[in-house]
Amino acid sequence: MANQSPAVNPFETAQRQIDIVADLLQLNGGVRQVLKHPKRELTVNFPVRMDDGSFRVYTGYRVQYNMARGPTKGGIRYHPQVSLDEVRALAAWMTWKCAVVNIPYGGSKGGVICDPKHMSPGELERLTRRFASEISSFIGPEVDIPAPDVYTDSQTMAWIMDTYSMQKGYSVPGVVTGKPISLGGSEGRGEATGRGCSYVIREAAKELGIKMKGALIAVQGFGNAGSVVSNLLHDEQGAKIVALSDSKGGISNPDGLNPHAVEEYKHKTGSVVGFPGSKPISNEEVLQTPCDVLVPAALENQLSAKNADKVRAKIVAEAANGPTLPEADEIFFQKGITVLPDILANAGGVTVSYFEWAQDLQGFFWTLDEVNQRLERVMVGSYADMRKQAKAHSVHNRTAAYVLAIQRVVDAIRIRGIYP
Ligand code: NAD
Repeated sequence: MANQSPAVNPFETAQRQIDIVADLLQLNGGVRQVLKHPKRELTVNFPVRMDDGSFRVYTGYRVQYNMARGPTKGGIRYHPQVSLDEVRALAAWMTWKCAVVNIPYGGSKGGVICDPKHMSPGELERLTRRFASEISSFIGPEVDIPAPDVYTDSQTMAWIMDTYSMQKGYSVPGVVTGKPISLGGSEGRGEATGRGCSYVIREAAKELGIKMKGALIAVQGFGNAGSVVSNLLHDEQGAKIVALSDSKGGISNPDGLNPHAVEEYKHKTGSVVGFPGSKPISNEEVLQTPCDVLVPAALENQLSAKNADKVRAKIVAEAANGPTLPEADEIFFQKGITVLPDILANAGGVTVSYFEWAQDLQGFFWTLDEVNQRLERVMVGSYADMRKQAKAHSVHNRTAAYVLAIQRVVDAIRIRGIYP
């Protein structure tokens, strides 16, 4: 995994988080074991023809973590550092994420070990279609529904939808979400993760008495999620974006950066670094920027015991999955920093994915306003549900969100019973 010590295993982190909540809820051995194990895992090794005529074998994974509450749902990631344990952890987090916003899904995740930055569009298409074909008997609109994640996008989903549909002999738009609108995608899906995150930041700021107008924001990872959060906090809430970064480095400006202009600059040059009027800073400095809201929106394990005490934000809003290690969580709690945990803060994406799937199954589509209003209702309601649990159990937000989610999954497991 990028930016982490090789000793940190994300699945161990995910399991430690389950144990904390299982202790709190006094869950017995059997249920606890179910929660700590992925239900199904598929590993595929498959050849892809490269542009020079040679072929290479790639390895991909699909993990369906828990399906007690419904079909499983989760993105597909293309990255050189993908590992089975990373995919397991991400699939577990998807299970809790769907439960925390109370949408009728279990959790899954997929990944292919590859370096998409060094592959041509043709190579990426052939890799995607072959991977889709390899996992086709494992996915489906009633079984497991992939979506985009790091370095995959709506085009990737279109290829998967087409490959799956070719095998079935008819069009199956509901097999993936995050599709282009022309193929049954939903209005608002592209910006849903960032939009959902901006709603929970607004709710937390309200509760903490922080005025969002003029609030200082630092964002690590100016990609899909990070750029949308920046744009919405800037445009809709009047906040000031003072630091940003991507994989090439960070930039800052105490007077505020216009995120739309940075986006245009990144589009032209490939990075935020060098944006006119900004000062270059390191990624670590982005995390340590004095601000009201820090938004980690890149990869996991960015905030650890090593740097958590240097964070000078009032709110840490986790647009990324798993950016905070448990030791860092404790430090934030001690310092009175409010964490908006990933399973809530970035659940806007999966929520609108659910809306997309529901629209595909009905063959009836909603307007952007309808999508955003429903998303706002889900995010605001889920924030309130999480805060209720936090107060009832005197725990911080992450544990509260896990309590809410795991209790819902446990209820489903118990009421369904153990087969046979
Ligand atoms: P993306 O590929 O669009 O963006 C990732 C960004 O992070 C890129 O700008 C990249 O340059 C940057 N980055 C990579 N390594 C970095 C580093 N070390 N320091 C700083 N920046 C770095 O991906 P995304 O879809 O925006 O996903 C980002 C995070 O949000 C991931 O953790 C993902 O799992 C999570 N997430 C995304 C969605 C979604 O709908 N896109 C939904 C839920 C969660």
